[in-house]
Amino acid sequence: MPVRAYKGQPKSPQPRRWVFFCLLISVSLLFGLGKEPAKEDPVAKVTEESPAESDPVEADLILPLTPQKPKTTRIVGYIANKENLTEALTSENISRADVLELIDVLHRDIKRASFNPNIVRRGDRYELELDSHSTIQHLKYTRQNDHETQFIVERIDGQLKARQEDLPLKREAIIVSGRIKDNIWNALRETGENPALLCDKLEYVFEYYIDFYNDCRTGDQFTFAVEKLYGKSGAFVRYGEILAAQYEGDNESFQAFLYVDPSGEDRYYDSNGRSLQGLFLRKPLNFTRISSPFTSRRFHPILKRYTAHHGVDYAAPYGTKVWAIASGTVAFVGRKGPLGNYIEIEHSNGYKTGYGHLRGFARGLKKGQRVSQKQTIGYVGSTGRSTGPHLHFNFYATINGKYKLVNPTRKINRPAGQPISEKYMAYFRQQRDQYLALLDRKNGSIVTTALPIEVAE
Ligand SMILES: [Zn+2]
Repeated sequence: MPVRAYKGQPKSPQPRRWVFFCLLISVSLLFGLGKEPAKEDPVAKVTEESPAESDPVEADLILPLTPQKPKTTRIVGYIANKENLTEALTSENISRADVLELIDVLHRDIKRASFNPNIVRRGDRYELELDSHSTIQHLKYTRQNDHETQFIVERIDGQLKARQEDLPLKREAIIVSGRIKDNIWNALRETGENPALLCDKLEYVFEYYIDFYNDCRTGDQFTFAVEKLYGKSGAFVRYGEILAAQYEGDNESFQAFLYVDPSGEDRYYDSNGRSLQGLFLRKPLNFTRISSPFTSRRFHPILKRYTAHHGVDYAAPYGTKVWAIASGTVAFVGRKGPLGNYIEIEHSNGYKTGYGHLRGFARGLKKGQRVSQKQTIGYVGSTGRSTGPHLHFNFYATINGKYKLVNPTRKINRPAGQPISEKYMAYFRQQRDQYLALLDRKNGSIVTTALPIEVAE
């Protein structure tokens, strides 16, 4: 239900204007210029007595600083069912031309991906300010359940301008700690946090080292500190960054610390300050399972004999995106015998990777083209000598000046990431120690003191 409210309400979106105005009134009263100081609504009174446009000269004499459109009407409303913004505003008795101007400005100034005024949802809130001619001066638009952004349209020098504004969020860091019984999802749920929102974040931290869907073992333990963000009403809005994390498995343990470098780029580093982002991604796709590992002796399902399989087969549904595991140059793209549709990419440091049995290639992919890490280059298929949809992945290292197939799932074959430069190492260690202390805390502890991530300089 639209609520109509008038000027003089406590929550004016432009407090400065009102402060200025009140000051003006006080001054004019002090000098005996305000003829009838009205008690309930002095602003409106003055407005009526000195309409700027009817007699500008005299008005100037009486109140030289009177703003042009002092009498404003404030309207607060909500988008109704099956209504768009145009319809909602038209129902507020605003002229069609004004409404169209406003919609045009929203289209012009705000990216369609952020806000499309044609697609507005029931329950979205708008707050309008109209001048004495019912012309739109100001609009504040807030989407239902969006605690992070609002959209402002303002008339400046006669022209409407729209912008997106971030709403301030309250930040807090908490410790999430648990033990895996069956899988990471359930373990996260047992901590009391939301696995649907946290799983990907945790995966991302250890992206190069742990496959949470295939490698996790019963009994493995994890602890991490993550930011939680709350809106003005105190409602949880979303998780922020994972600040520090620790994963302890039977065979391997990993730690990760978020560090923001002076250029503002944030990355995860191990306790020695080496980037966890290796030269190569841990996997070239999201796969269901490894259907055939790197081995010198496997029974071939089509050839019906033992052969070497010096690659890794990743089973995945048809059409699954296949990424370049590192940046490089496309060295081959096309049909290649039993490998079917095949791509080969040459990387720096003498490495080369191959991707086989693809259903198809990324649009326009050509030999000689540069590709970046995690760029989609093709799609899982079953072309060539293959019994079902999977990716055959080849990983070559240069040994004695020649490319040789090596096992990509062995960490030893994968060069480690870049360390933090010596100049910033002391700062990193200081921050790491602060984070390290957090990882001893109990699940659910609030550790807000650890929040500020200062950029070193
Ligand atoms: Zn294979």
